[in-house]
Amino acid sequence: ALLQTNGSAPPARKPKPKSKSTPVLINEDEIAAGIEAQQFTAHYQPKIDCVTGAIVGFEALARWEHPQVGLVMPDRFIAQAEYHGLIDGITRQISEEVVAWLGKVYRQRDFEISINLSAKSIDDQRVAEEISALCARHGIATTRVVLEVTETSAMGNPTAALELLTRFRIRGFQLSIDDFGIGYSSLAQLSRLPFSELKIDKSFVMTAHSSEESQKIVAALVGLARNLGLRTTAEGVEDAWTLDFLKELGCDHAQGYFIARPMPGPEVEAWVRQREETSDAQRLQ
Ligand code: C2E
Ligand code: MG
Ligand code: MG
Ligand code: MG
Repeated sequence: ALLQTNGSAPPARKPKPKSKSTPVLINEDEIAAGIEAQQFTAHYQPKIDCVTGAIVGFEALARWEHPQVGLVMPDRFIAQAEYHGLIDGITRQISEEVVAWLGKVYRQRDFEISINLSAKSIDDQRVAEEISALCARHGIATTRVVLEVTETSAMGNPTAALELLTRFRIRGFQLSIDDFGIGYSSLAQLSRLPFSELKIDKSFVMTAHSSEESQKIVAALVGLARNLGLRTTAEGVEDAWTLDFLKELGCDHAQGYFIARPMPGPEVEAWVRQREETSDAQRLQ
C-alpha cells in the first residue's frame, strides 16, 4: 500500500482485539463472515454550524451488529479488518447503506454525508469509482459526500497521497483530514494536499474547557485551517462552554455528544425533525 496507517511496517503479530465487557475474540474468519452476512451498518452523528446551529450533515460511523456479541464498536474491528485485507468489504457495505439512506430520506435537503476511508482504501481506484456510481444511482451529487482520511494515513506518503486524493477531488468529493493535531504533518505538505476540511482531534476539544493548553492548540488549529482556506470541524464537543468557545474562535462546524450521539437512521431522522421544529418555534416567538 502506498499509504500506510502509521508509516511503518505491519505489526509482526496480529493485533489482539480489546475486549472490555465480553471475552469473545473477533478473528479474521468472524469478520469475513460478518461481511458476508451484511452485519455491518452505520450510525449517524449530526454535524452543526457553530454560528447558526443549523444541521450541516452527518458522519457515518461503522457498527457491527454481531448476532452473539451485540453491537460492536469500530475500535474492535477496523484495525483488524485492515490488517487482514477485509476493510474494503466494510467500506462498501457502509457506503452503500449511507448513500442510499441520504438519497431516500434527504435527497431534497443539502445535508452532507461524511464517510471514513481507511488508508488502505484511498490507495484503491475502485473505491472512488464505486462511491461515484452509488451517488449517481441514488441521485446524490458527489459534492455532498465528504471522505474523511486520518492525518496519520494521509501524511505517511504525501506524494502518493496527492495523486490518490486528487482522483477523489476530480470526481467532486470533498476531502477531510480527520483526527488532526495528533500526527506529524508537515504544514507545507498539508497546504499542497487537496483537502477541503480539517477536523480537529477530539482529544483537544474534549479537554478545552479544563485545559488552557488544549484551548491554545484548538485556537491555533482553527487559525491554521483558516489560513489554508480549509473549513474547520471540531469533533468531541461535550458541553455548551466548548461550543461557545469554538464559535468565538470562528470554527465552522461542530460535532459531539453535547449536540448528539451517533444514532441509527430512524433515530437521527426523529432528531432532525425535533430540532427543526424547535428552532422554527423559536423563530416564531
Ligand atoms: P473518527 O472518525 O474520528 O470518529 C469520531 C469518533 O468519536 C466516533 O467514535 C464517535 O462516536 C466519537 N465521538 C463523537 N463525539 C464524541 C464526543 O463528544 N465525545 C467522545 N468521547 N467521543 C465522541 P467511533 O464511532 O467509536 O469510531 C471510532 C473510529 O473508528 C472513528 O474515529 C474512525 O476512525 C473509525 N471508523 C468508524 N467507522 C469507520 C468506517 O466506516 N471505516 C473506517 N475506515 N473507519 C471507521
Ligand atoms: Mg471521522
Ligand atoms: Mg476524528
Ligand atoms: Mg478518531
